[in-house]
Amino acid sequence: MMRFTLPRDLYYGKGSLEHLKELKGKKAILVLGGGSMKKFGFVDKALSYLKEAGIETTLFENVEPDPSVETVMKGAEAMRAFEPDWIIAMGGGSPIDAAKAMWAFYEYPDVTFEELCTPFNFPLLRQKAKFLAIPSTSGTATEVTAFSVITDYSKGIKYPLADFNITPDVAIVDPELAETMPPKLVAHTGMDALTHAIEAYVSTLNSPFTDPLALKAIEMVWSNLPVSYQGCMKAREQMHYAQCLAGQAFSNALLGIVHSMAHKTGAAFSTGHIPHGCANAIYLPYVIKYNAKCAESRYAAIARKTGVIEPSATDAECVRALCKKIDDFNVKLNIPKTLKEFGIDEAEFKEKVAHIAELAVGDACTGSNPRPITPAEMEKLLTCCYYGTEVDF
Ligand code: FE
Repeated sequence: MMRFTLPRDLYYGKGSLEHLKELKGKKAILVLGGGSMKKFGFVDKALSYLKEAGIETTLFENVEPDPSVETVMKGAEAMRAFEPDWIIAMGGGSPIDAAKAMWAFYEYPDVTFEELCTPFNFPLLRQKAKFLAIPSTSGTATEVTAFSVITDYSKGIKYPLADFNITPDVAIVDPELAETMPPKLVAHTGMDALTHAIEAYVSTLNSPFTDPLALKAIEMVWSNLPVSYQGCMKAREQMHYAQCLAGQAFSNALLGIVHSMAHKTGAAFSTGHIPHGCANAIYLPYVIKYNAKCAESRYAAIARKTGVIEPSATDAECVRALCKKIDDFNVKLNIPKTLKEFGIDEAEFKEKVAHIAELAVGDACTGSNPRPITPAEMEKLLTCCYYGTEVDF
């Protein structure tokens, strides 16, 4: 038996933040990131709408990027003290991901991260509160997904939490919030969204329910991402919706090894963090070439159905055209073509690649990749991504 789960309600369109006026409840905790939502006036707006709804609201602020176990515990404690019946998370992926984990610890104070880490093993949530998410970036789609990533800095471990219990009840996808993104974030989050849709479409768990969402998202990325990057707010709005569609697809079809590689390389090098979407954008064409041995017709379908190439082209021509399209996008978005070009030191790469390859094969996203991969193959693939050499195995 399969399952397909989405939020119960999705409000979208400019100004849809206003839905907060109609929320039914008594108390809300508003979970926020570093302060951009406050700076741009969205926190004040949210508070005044909630006041109009007769809901008493408290803030939990300063969730850091890549939220920590400590932040989650602090948030859960604040929730237990305040006893909200709504958890509202607003901002980028981090405050929303953190709030999802806080929610579990609010309702079940004795649960452990180790228990929550077993996929689809959460206790039944919504005993104390419901969850509303309002994204300000156009990539992670955590407002509609069953996922959250929390970092244990003391152990150097990322806990990927996955359970339909943490799929939010309500998402407000208001493009006005996304207008505040700087261009580099637009590029990276947009390519993250494209990767979500492509990986979901070729995933071993793809389905008639997720395919249309993935294809529509890809089509919308093709027509809107470069213009959104240049500052067109109409295109920015479309990208905000496209990433949400991609999220609906991958929350139910899961992802593949582009994400496995991005997860395990993101913080691996001393030269600095590789932003998640940037890593995905670099790896995507190489992974398509690797996976094409098992999923050529699926990639070809993407190219044909989203207008990358005329439908009469052969499958091999379609795959080449799809990779070329992604390469062209990366050029337009000022994303490097290789890890070397990104600035990763060659000696450090060589020293660490075997270990990273092993970790990437063990990542939660590898299981639904269309072509199996061994640590030795992963090492070869990462090496191709470092030097920009042809994937021919
Ligand atoms: Fe992603």
